[in-house]
Amino acid sequence: MIQPAKHIANVKYAIRNIAAEAARLEAQGKKILPCNIGDPLRFDFATPPHLVEAVTKALRDGHNQYVASAGLKEAREAVAAHLKPAVRPEDVFITAGVSEALDLALTALLEAGDEVLLPSPGYPLYNAIAARLQAKVVPYFLDESKGWALDADDIASKVSPRTKAIVICNPNNPTGAVATRAQLEAVLAVARKHNLVVLSDEIYDRLLFTGEHVPTATLCDDVPLITLNGLSKAYLCPGWRVGWLAFHTPKLLANVATAVQRLADARLCGPGPFQYAIKPALTGPQDHIPEAMKKLRSRRDLMVTRLRAMPGVSLVEPQGAFYALPSLNREWAGGDEAFVLELVRETGVLFVHGEGFGQKPGTQHFRVVFLPQESVLSAAFDGLEQFLRARA
Ligand code: PLP
Repeated sequence: MIQPAKHIANVKYAIRNIAAEAARLEAQGKKILPCNIGDPLRFDFATPPHLVEAVTKALRDGHNQYVASAGLKEAREAVAAHLKPAVRPEDVFITAGVSEALDLALTALLEAGDEVLLPSPGYPLYNAIAARLQAKVVPYFLDESKGWALDADDIASKVSPRTKAIVICNPNNPTGAVATRAQLEAVLAVARKHNLVVLSDEIYDRLLFTGEHVPTATLCDDVPLITLNGLSKAYLCPGWRVGWLAFHTPKLLANVATAVQRLADARLCGPGPFQYAIKPALTGPQDHIPEAMKKLRSRRDLMVTRLRAMPGVSLVEPQGAFYALPSLNREWAGGDEAFVLELVRETGVLFVHGEGFGQKPGTQHFRVVFLPQESVLSAAFDGLEQFLRARA
């Protein structure tokens, strides 16, 4: 029996792990109410037709060859012009989703043993990539008592001589919190002071319920900054695997950009035909976004009303994206993973446990994805409420 490399044991992705248990239950005939995966296409959302048309045309026109490793020229130009502030096309790399963008950027930056500050709770892919690189994850805690705010003091207290980078996720998965200008400025001040690279994952920037999204790059030109975004969420085509990263301070990051180029060359290129959707996505009709937000807003409101009426649950109302991270304010034997597993086995209601996203020690949460139709959400909250009341 051949053994895999030991450090792969630290590569975990709770969202898909818990889905595997649900698939097992479903195969046994259990009806699952899926509130666990952030893929709008599994529910009543559809890819905008003009993007399907652009990709179909690219395929028909024979654009099935490898493209440049940094991406299609017209796509890089469209992203460069769209970003705030605009960058040069050569500062943009088109990738197989934000996932690959994160992988390229972190691989180019982190040596084994380097420290990277990651949000907690936060998106587990950051941790998985760091684990693969054998970098040390230093979690910084978002402040639940202040609406899951970014806490620059906590970040500053965790900087060490080995710290290389800070990842921020705004709006955040799994909390749905949107960072304020002041919070971002405070984090940038920490990065400036210690010469840390900031990676700003802004994949949910168009999906807002209230207020505005402040692009991190509009707040500084003197901190090494890489932003990441893509088509998966706001443009409703996650399976196409289209994302990008942009270097906003090329003078500070020229060597890192060269390293990313070498890594990008070594994996040939991102999926070519799908990159033909980038320009029409960024410059064409945007009507699908307010349409999607209308649905999401009433689903969010339903969720907030239902969860706030449940015993032992409290909730920070999400301001963006399609996630919420309610707190489970009672002891649960085995922690929130046991809670989520018991819940799905008994009721079919499927959430992801807070522990899978990291959280302050001693706290318990579960992540709700409120993409499903209201009938599904209502049934899911009925199941959750009965489950909790039976154990109150
Ligand atoms: N970043 C965050 C915060 C996400 O929630 C996700 C997917 O859920 C990704 C990145 C991955 O996006 P992509 O489909 O572009 O790889």
